Amino acid sequence: MSDDTLETYIRQLLESHQGPKVQVAWQGGEPTLMQLAFFRRAVELVERHRRPGQLIEHSIQTNGTLLDDDWCRFFKQHRFLVGLSVDGPRELHDRYRVDRLGQGTFSRVLQGWLHLRRHGVEFNILCTIHAANQQHGRAIYRFLRDELDARWIQFIPIVERIGGQTIPTDDQDQRLPSEKTRPLYTQSGSMVTRRSVDPAQYGQFLVDVFEEWVRNDVGRVFVQQFDVALEACFGRHLLCVHAPECGYGPALEYNGDLYCCDHYVEPNFLLGNIHQTHMLALVAGERQRAFGQHKLTSLSSKCRQCALLQWCNGGCPKDRFVPSPEGDADQNYLCPGYVRFFSHAQPAMQCMVDLLQRGRPAPGVMAWMAQRDAAGGPYQACSCGSGRKFRFCHGARAPASPFEGSGCHFNGNRDGDSAAVRVRDDKQG
Ligand code: SF4
Ligand code: SF4
Repeated sequence: MSDDTLETYIRQLLESHQGPKVQVAWQGGEPTLMQLAFFRRAVELVERHRRPGQLIEHSIQTNGTLLDDDWCRFFKQHRFLVGLSVDGPRELHDRYRVDRLGQGTFSRVLQGWLHLRRHGVEFNILCTIHAANQQHGRAIYRFLRDELDARWIQFIPIVERIGGQTIPTDDQDQRLPSEKTRPLYTQSGSMVTRRSVDPAQYGQFLVDVFEEWVRNDVGRVFVQQFDVALEACFGRHLLCVHAPECGYGPALEYNGDLYCCDHYVEPNFLLGNIHQTHMLALVAGERQRAFGQHKLTSLSSKCRQCALLQWCNGGCPKDRFVPSPEGDADQNYLCPGYVRFFSHAQPAMQCMVDLLQRGRPAPGVMAWMAQRDAAGGPYQACSCGSGRKFRFCHGARAPASPFEGSGCHFNGNRDGDSAAVRVRDDKQG
């Protein structure tokens, strides 16, 4: 991105906001590849163009592999919120998060996390759910909570849609074809890659996490999907995916081209170029409005009649490409998972709604869960649906980790793991 485009973008972004708060969010690809000087310049431009009283919230989403003291000093100084991508313990993370040589990146990510911690940078965790980690919801959640000390977590389902004309993304070969031979990725095709998440298992993953969270961590750990579901009970929609309409997160490319959404950076969704048309006009224009409304108007007949519509709203349009038993052509691929999670979470969500409406804090749901668990006893079937006894499933405070001894658990003494242990020692000391 040229300095001219960077300045045009920042100036227009700040001009576009009427209210005092402005979020300046960087995402890639991998934004740290732009190097620190680029972001120093970006912050300098923000300071130059912001109006008196405008409050700036900087954030960046990164894989963390390049983070060092310089980066983290900078983040701390400018109060960046850093989203760190971690897909679970080493064995799970390294399955797909590899470098160009196919080597796992877990150790480097953990080093980045250590730098963040050392400098007191605020961070959250983005964890993608895919074929390799979809069966380990609770282990991953515990890892993020207990070992990485994450207090804000979001889970993103990986749905890589493919057809004959789209990029041959295959989990056996992580190397990208050269720029010249690489076809444009478009949201088309009716198949998914092998590394995409299984739809029903995605729902079960969330249920596994929810069962752990709702017993122990309400009010202490924030899981985006759970916040979104609770807010939806009050008619508020925090996440475009589960809002009735969308279109509030356009994506800017390096040359100033602005697209409807970062999942639709393809020719049919180009809004224009900010060097020719002000960003505000592009975002408020008819084209973008139609894009956002299409989420609602293109709902399948199954979605329109669905009892869970209030929470789900049909999911993201990019995932609507499978036929439904009702004869819809474009049902959401993740629908079985949404049904599993939203219906499972209903009773506890309703309990939290009741508490909040009576002016009491939502964490009271944990006492309600404890009462339910006590009434059923330790040998009842676990409510997560695993088929195991409660005592040996979500009733077990610290069940054996399936990753024990694999080099991704944290009492081991391999490089990255011992680093995690050192931080825990620091905290205790
Ligand atoms: S297309 Fe999906 S990700 Fe993009 S704005 Fe709409 S709901 Fe959000
Ligand atoms: S759960 Fe399935 S049917 Fe119901 S709104 Fe969501 S995608 Fe549509």
